Amino acid sequence: GLNIGVLALQGAFREHRASLESLNASVTEVRKAKHLENLDGIILPGGESTAIGKLLNQFELMEPLREKISGGLPVWGTCAGMILLAKSIENDDRRHLDVMDISVVRNGYGRQLGSFGVEQIVPAVSEKPIPLVFIRAPYIVEVGKDVEVVCSADGNIVAAKQDNMLAVSFHPELTPDTSFLEYFLNMCKEPA
Ligand code: GLN
Repeated sequence: GLNIGVLALQGAFREHRASLESLNASVTEVRKAKHLENLDGIILPGGESTAIGKLLNQFELMEPLREKISGGLPVWGTCAGMILLAKSIENDDRRHLDVMDISVVRNGYGRQLGSFGVEQIVPAVSEKPIPLVFIRAPYIVEVGKDVEVVCSADGNIVAAKQDNMLAVSFHPELTPDTSFLEYFLNMCKEPA
């Protein structure tokens, strides 16, 4: 089976762990560079991108993780994880992993808007409507030429893929629907 890492510094990593286990994947909680060995893919959870970015540096994970991703390790960033992947953040001077050719807006739906959900068919992922849960979510305002838009909602790009990298604005791990996770696990089975 697949061995999937979940970056476990801050945020919704336990929920990702539970979803992965429900699909019988092995899970490695990643807190040290050595945990990056022998992974078939890695998930960067939602949480606070500023906090996770700081911890990536403190735990000396930023550079090793960037190298793994640049070397082709399949990666899925959800919400704050999308911000960590982005090369451009419109309303923040910080850059984190700086690997994916997307431009994002943090808290794109407004700071005060706690959370909201929509249901939508995402043709690349599933024939059935998927619940999309947004929590102080970012969205994508621009994508590079190698980036495929996977899902737009209300005129904003909320899911995109570039080679081995998948980024989504929302939190599939907080819903019982595993179709996005299955989509990512297929990327891990046949790396780009
Ligand atoms: N607002 C958070 C950030 O900017 C992301 C929120 C989330 O991951 N649910 O990092």
